[in-house]
Amino acid sequence: MKILVIAEAQGKEIRHASRSAITLAKNAAAAANGEIEIAIIGDDIEAAATAASAYAPTFTLSDASLANATADRYGAAIAKIVEQRGASLVIAASTSQGKDCVARAAASLGGTMVTDAIACENRDGKLVWQRTMHAGGVAAWVVAHGSPVVVTALQSAYEPAEPTGETSVTALEIDVASLPSAIQFESVSTKQSDRPDVTEAAVVISGGRAFKTAEDYEQLIGGLADKVGGGTGSSRAAVDAGIAPNENQVGQTGKIIAPDLYLGIGISGAVQHLAGMKNSKIIAAINTDDEAPLLDYADFALIADAYDAIPELIDKL
Ligand SMILES: Cc1cc2nc3c(=O)[nH]c(=O)nc-3n(C[C@H](O)[C@H](O)[C@H](O)COP(=O)(O)OP(=O)(O)OC[C@H]3O[C@@H](n4cnc5c(N)ncnc54)[C@H](O)[C@@H]3O)c2cc1C
Repeated sequence: MKILVIAEAQGKEIRHASRSAITLAKNAAAAANGEIEIAIIGDDIEAAATAASAYAPTFTLSDASLANATADRYGAAIAKIVEQRGASLVIAASTSQGKDCVARAAASLGGTMVTDAIACENRDGKLVWQRTMHAGGVAAWVVAHGSPVVVTALQSAYEPAEPTGETSVTALEIDVASLPSAIQFESVSTKQSDRPDVTEAAVVISGGRAFKTAEDYEQLIGGLADKVGGGTGSSRAAVDAGIAPNENQVGQTGKIIAPDLYLGIGISGAVQHLAGMKNSKIIAAINTDDEAPLLDYADFALIADAYDAIPELIDKL
C-alpha cells in the first residue's frame, strides 16, 4: 500500500503537526505493510523538503502561485499528486489547512475521508480508524470503504516522528497553470509573538474568566508563560470577553493540544474546554473553587486566588 503524507512547510522545517501525521502514517504502514512518501506544496519549500526527506522520500510541487494555501488550488494539487504517486492512503495533519485542503482532494478523487484520527489498527486485513466525536466525548472505530482513503491525524494523539535518515527529494511535474484559482489570497493578519504557539508549546499556561482585563491576562498568564518558556492558552469565555486573544483558545471550537504540562488558571473545565486539553501529559490547575470540574482531571491543584498565586509563582521560579 502506498501511503502519502501531505506535510506542511514551516520555514526550513515541516510543522510539528505534520510530524505527528507521519507517526500515524508509520503506524498504518506497520499495520498494513505500507510504504510512505511525503509531498509538500508551496513556494520556497526546498529547505523544508530536505527536512521532510529525513522521514521518507519527499516529492515537491513548488511555485510562486502556491505560496498561500487556498483550498481550491491546494485541493486540486493534492488530488493530482495522489493520482501521480498512486497512493491509496493519504494522511495529513488535522490543522485548518489540512482539513480544508485534503477534504477537497478526497471529494474530487471520489475517496473516503476520516477526520481527527487518534489510532489505526488492522482488523481482518482492513485498516480501521479510531476518531473522536462529540467534542471528544466519544471515540468511535470506523471503516473507510473506497479509495483513496484520506485521513487527518489529531496532533495531540501522536508524538512527532523522529528523523530516520537521508532519502530523496523529487520535484513533481504538474501543470500548475491548470489548477483552479477561484479563491485569491488577499492578506493574513497575525499577531507576532516570541512565545511558542499554543499547539506546539511543551508547557501551556492557560487563563479563563477569572481574569478581569486583557492587561491582567497578559501580565499574569503571559508573565508566567515567559518565565517557563511556555505558550499561552485560554478558555472561550476569556476570548469572548476580549481578555485573551482568539488564537489562544483551547477546546472544541479552539485548538486541540497535548503539551507536557497544561496549567489551567481560573478555568472551570467545561466539557468543551476539556475536549481541547484533556490529553495533556500533566494537568495542573489553580482555582478558588475546589469543586471546579477541571480539578477532576488535574494531577496537581492549588486552591488559591490567581491574583495572589501567580505573582508568587513568578517570584519563586
Ligand atoms: C458549542 C460550544 C462550543 C464551545 N467551545 C469552547 C471551547 O472551544 N473552549 C472553551 O474553553 N469553551 C468553549 N465553550 C464554552 C464553555 O462551555 C464554557 O463556557 C467556558 O469554557 C468557560 O470558561 P471559563 O472556565 O474561563 O469560565 P467559567 O466557567 O466562568 O469559570 C471561571 C473559573 O474561574 C474560577 N475563578 C474565578 N475567580 C478566580 C480567581 N480569582 N482565582 C482563581 N480562580 C478563579 C472559578 O471558580 C471558575 O472555576 C463552548 C461552548 C459551546 C456551547
